[in-house]
Amino acid sequence: MATEAPDAIRNVIIIGSGPAGYTAAVYTARANLQPLVIAGSVTAGGELMNTTDVENFPGFPEGIMGPDLMDNMQKQAERFGAEILFDDVTAVELGGDVKVVTLGDGTVYRAHAVILSTGSAYREIGLPDEKRLAGHGVSWCATCDGFFFREQEIAVIGGGDSAMEEALFLTKFASKVTVVHRRDTLRASKIMADRALAHPKIEFIWDSEVVGITGEQKVTGMTLRNLKTDARQDVPVTGMFVAIGNDPRTDLIKDVLDLTAEGTIAVEGRTSKTSLPGVFAAGDVIDASYRQAITAAGSGCAAALDVEHYLADVQANAAAQAVPVSH
Ligand code: NAP
Repeated sequence: MATEAPDAIRNVIIIGSGPAGYTAAVYTARANLQPLVIAGSVTAGGELMNTTDVENFPGFPEGIMGPDLMDNMQKQAERFGAEILFDDVTAVELGGDVKVVTLGDGTVYRAHAVILSTGSAYREIGLPDEKRLAGHGVSWCATCDGFFFREQEIAVIGGGDSAMEEALFLTKFASKVTVVHRRDTLRASKIMADRALAHPKIEFIWDSEVVGITGEQKVTGMTLRNLKTDARQDVPVTGMFVAIGNDPRTDLIKDVLDLTAEGTIAVEGRTSKTSLPGVFAAGDVIDASYRQAITAAGSGCAAALDVEHYLADVQANAAAQAVPVSH
């Protein structure tokens, strides 16, 4: 049963706690808007929680570990008065002037504005055995699961930065890492690609897709199909790390807000304004192109500033309506 949170209507609720959510929290907290951040129960901190060294976030010349960066952002938001709840949002009602946000434990919060910074979710290959063997050799997170594959031969699927990062990280544990990519050139940035291509423990199988994953209790191998020749080959591996990109997390709002052709939340120009007034979006959930921690953070900043202006307008309108017009 839904429980009404005791508080009055809040200024702003931020849904999601990656770089976009926490940056929006820092800015709105410093603007004295007392933001409430619904950080997520297992996904708090977002994708950087599953990353090791972040070498390209400005301000950290020696790099910083992803979880440490997120921990810092959380503390910075809290320092200025952001309230953070580690729960999941299960439903939102965004149509009215007052937005309603329901959490997993049934508590209901209300606010004048909402920032959606729900990020993106790991993409799956789409094989039935992928789901069956998830956690039994199939993984989406090298930093979480790499340790279990000491001295084993494993595979990474994908050709982007994530795949290269996973493959490089996994060389610390595995005896051999085979990267399977569906084309013959990598999408990854040159620095990451060069590192992976030069690594003695990493091998590449090009132009190939995974069409089967074998193993009863645990992964024992994969079947690949060469997309140019149609030839199939079985490759014995005990682990498979899927790193084929992400899809924006729009489940909460996909029937309510306008989306782009790429599936991200549509926003007005360079702003964070969605198709509903008082509803703003930031980070990977609006970004099909850049998807960097720093671009997400910048986007969270923009959303916070948009919310500030929106709330100032709401307040000005309310004051104007309260003042009797003299003749
Ligand atoms: P991505 O750049 O979209 O790359 C996804 C890769 O998976 C591509 O090589 C793609 O193949 C392949 N792929 C997609 N769907 C597939 C499918 N169904 N079956 C097989 N292969 C499939 O995603 P990402 O690597 O996760 O990176 C996302 C963003 O984060 C990028 O902007 C990236 O630069 C950034 N990032 C940066 C770093 C870093 O700087 N250290 C680390 C991680 C991520 P095609 O190439 O054929 O499309």
